[in-house]
Amino acid sequence: TQSSTKSQSPENVQVAVRCRPMSASEARGQREVCWDIDTTLNSIVIAEGFERQNRARHKYRYDRVLYGSDNFRIYDDNVAKLVNSTMEGYNGTVFAYGQTASGKTYPITGTHNEPGVIPRAVNDVFEYIKANSTREFLLRVSYLEIYNEAIHDLLSPGTQDLKIHEDKQRGVYVSPLKEEVLTNAKQALKVIQKGEENRHVSTTNYNLHSSRSHTIFRMIIESKEREPNASTQTHRDRSTASNAKSTIRISQLNLIDLAGSEKATTNLDRQKEGAFINKSLLTLGTVISKLTDSKGASHIPFRDSKLTRILQPSLSGNARVAVICTISPVMTSMEESMNTLKFAERVK
Ligand code: ADP
Ligand code: MG
Repeated sequence: TQSSTKSQSPENVQVAVRCRPMSASEARGQREVCWDIDTTLNSIVIAEGFERQNRARHKYRYDRVLYGSDNFRIYDDNVAKLVNSTMEGYNGTVFAYGQTASGKTYPITGTHNEPGVIPRAVNDVFEYIKANSTREFLLRVSYLEIYNEAIHDLLSPGTQDLKIHEDKQRGVYVSPLKEEVLTNAKQALKVIQKGEENRHVSTTNYNLHSSRSHTIFRMIIESKEREPNASTQTHRDRSTASNAKSTIRISQLNLIDLAGSEKATTNLDRQKEGAFINKSLLTLGTVISKLTDSKGASHIPFRDSKLTRILQPSLSGNARVAVICTISPVMTSMEESMNTLKFAERVK
């Protein structure tokens, strides 16, 4: 059957596609929405009248198809469960994929009224800790950026020569990389804000830079059963406590804003960046599609890009992935939107 060809449960990779609303300038230019979007059937197809010659009006279907500005819906429907399972020891990764200005940062960071995945996940993590007092949690966070295949520490912008290492004990990790211990949601959001500020300060053309780099916000969640109060425990309690002590759970939650997926321009200076971006996005697509592949034993090319190499520990084993693919509503972006829809189809 269909489901037995998947080595992981298909729900472990959730794919949502969102078309953003028209911007004010697009609306002023009297552009029309060139997609026919059905948010009940979760399908999307080129709108009638916008099809080009030789192009069949293929109807794409995903786990979720959305149109508009509702970040609450994206988080509640496609991300909340994944965040919850990272608290229970599974690795979780959330990506936003799409061309520049299609609306990747919008659902990941969000706005004051429409908070995105990062602030809501941070909030949920601390709510979970409050509700699960029998376990003791240690939360650490790192925030890095990959630009031209070089890694930058957004929590410690002066650090040079960040490299990927691998050893038996720690697995694959980046070093030297600052990790901040998180104590509450408010402090966590301050750490994130500091990271964002560092990113702004270190670049002359922020918009261009941010569209050409990937950022990985990573939370490391460690927990163990709390030991019962020593003064009240019996001998027997003590031995159960020491058993529980041995089951430490460690998992990672990665929240990722990818570089723009648009094709490289003819500008020579930009071409090298473009080549790195293409390679890392292509490899990411391959890695995720292999997670759900029947031939699970086939080679997974984590080493082909820094992005996938850094994510290797989170995307191996029983990983949960939520992909948010974003497209622009207008005709002038159709070619890039098509590429995004194809990526979304490939990773499912
Ligand atoms: P990207 O990160 O892909 O380059 P942004 O998230 O920065 O794109 O979005 C580009 C612009 O469109 C921003 O001004 C943003 O506020 C707006 N925008 C993007 N997605 C939405 C959305 N779903 N609803 C409302 N505005 C959006
Ligand atoms: Mg962005």
